[in-house]
Amino acid sequence: MTKPSIEMETDSEVYKTLLESTKAIPWKIDWETLEFSYIGPQIETLLGWERDSWKGINDWAARMHPEDREHIVDFCVSQSKAGSDHEADYRALTKSGEYVWIRDVVHVVRDETGETVALIGFMFDITERKQTEQRLLQLQQELEELSYKDPLTGIANRRMFDSVLELEWAHALEKRQPLSLIMLDIDCFKQYNDHYGHVQGDECLQRVAQTLQKAARRSSDFIARFGGEEFALILRETDQQAALAVAERCRAEIHQQQIPHRASDVSHVITVSLGVSTIVPTVSDEAIRFVDKVDFLLYRAKQAGRDRIETTEE
Ligand code: GH3
Ligand code: MG
Ligand code: MG
Repeated sequence: MTKPSIEMETDSEVYKTLLESTKAIPWKIDWETLEFSYIGPQIETLLGWERDSWKGINDWAARMHPEDREHIVDFCVSQSKAGSDHEADYRALTKSGEYVWIRDVVHVVRDETGETVALIGFMFDITERKQTEQRLLQLQQELEELSYKDPLTGIANRRMFDSVLELEWAHALEKRQPLSLIMLDIDCFKQYNDHYGHVQGDECLQRVAQTLQKAARRSSDFIARFGGEEFALILRETDQQAALAVAERCRAEIHQQQIPHRASDVSHVITVSLGVSTIVPTVSDEAIRFVDKVDFLLYRAKQAGRDRIETTEE
């Protein structure tokens, strides 16, 4: 013969012991009063607040990080009203004033008519997981920054140039705006390295990069080290006349630096040659062709004697 009452008692004892010995903290809220009808004693170990200080949903909200509070409370309330089980990650305040990352996994208990009557949930301490996640995210960002940056000059690299050109090209195409590109190459730089050595060659590249950053004055002007001793400037919504003015400023300011170059065929200081072009792209144009065109103009500037700017006729 079975003795249901004793079995039930034994069962609930077992459940209670199980629930209160796990790391996850069980709780129950009565939906009508919004008060806790149960919370596991482990809450005190985790957050420090006494078990009976958890009266209702207001205590729960009050002990949440202010940045999380509003959207988490709104989210949980609306999910509960809708009768949907849900999960929420938030920072809970400890009695000693620190924050612990909690994942609350909530089951909505409904009666036979579908009305929400209670919420039953488990709180998990996910602090360590969150910290790992955040460290990974930070590392990822650092890596991303590094992979788009030229280590020598600190400006954008070729990879970044390709990404920015793609975006600016799409922008110009959509807005029917002119897009300008300047390619700039240091003259007789092989002789510079041969004469002054690679270390000084590197320093020269850094100075040229810094000077170009000063010469491009609009916040939307983008400068990259295209490769070796070649730099590129992408100028958004810039017509040919304005682009020529920027190119001229680049040339003049690098000249003004008066970086000695005794082995140059062109001058006694570092000089540069530049190709400049402007396009209002249409769907039949290709960004890569445009880059080729500007590169060819740069080549023409070299052919014509260096230390000069070449552009197309308007
Ligand atoms: P041109 O006037 O026709 O441009 O002649 P150039 O000597 O500048 O051009 P060339 O392409 O013959 O040589 C480029 C030189 O740039 C060769 C290479 O050693 C140097 N260079 C490229 N990258 C670096 C770098 O990162 N550091 C240093 N120091 N030199 C570099
Ligand atoms: Mg060169
Ligand atoms: Mg070159």
